[in-house]
Amino acid sequence: MALPEVEELIALQELDQRIATQEAAARAIPPLVRGLESRLQSARDAREAARGAHGGLEKTRRLKEGELKQVEEQVKGKQARLWEIKKNEEYSAVLKEIELLKAKRSALEEEILLLFDQIEEASRTVATREGELKERDAEFARLRTAKEAELARLQEEVAASTKERAGRARRIEAGLLQSYTRLVKSRGGLAVVPVKDSSCGGCFVAITPQAHAEVRKGEALLTCANCQRILYWKG
Ligand SMILES: [Zn+2]
Repeated sequence: MALPEVEELIALQELDQRIATQEAAARAIPPLVRGLESRLQSARDAREAARGAHGGLEKTRRLKEGELKQVEEQVKGKQARLWEIKKNEEYSAVLKEIELLKAKRSALEEEILLLFDQIEEASRTVATREGELKERDAEFARLRTAKEAELARLQEEVAASTKERAGRARRIEAGLLQSYTRLVKSRGGLAVVPVKDSSCGGCFVAITPQAHAEVRKGEALLTCANCQRILYWKG
């Protein structure tokens, strides 16, 4: 058994631990939401990159098609000129030019065909990224709503626990409350501890047989000689 004022301190300590747990849970939520937000942003960036790659390929295709058209016109022009040429030398020179242009045309046609394949693949990538973004977006919306509700609930709980704590603290004698507060700060939130196997439940240093007997009787307020925590007997 414990002294009534120690019982009060035990209840206060439980409340303080509960508040600490609730506050820690509340503090963990905003970084979690920010993490989800950055996952969403990554998905958005990936979609933009895919769109950019697709757009770049389309642009190259248009350029190549423009070039092809030019080459085709050049071929036509030179073929028309052939009819007007009288000199043999000049004729073979233009014929040679036409051949070179035709080779260029084939190369461009190949390039354009290849670009069509690449564009098709890039389109599929855009569709995949769009799907992923949609999923992340839905996931984010769902989790953010849930986490915001959880945060609001935790904040309400902290407020209620804090109010309850103020009521409890008022009932405790000022000097004892001061000792408790000091101990909570210096002893990692643990100011009141049970005696376990004849040792302090906080620092685990053995207590004297006399102190043990007195704690057990629960008639006087006893503290651990080593860590100064307030001791009680837990039958
Ligand atoms: Zn101790």
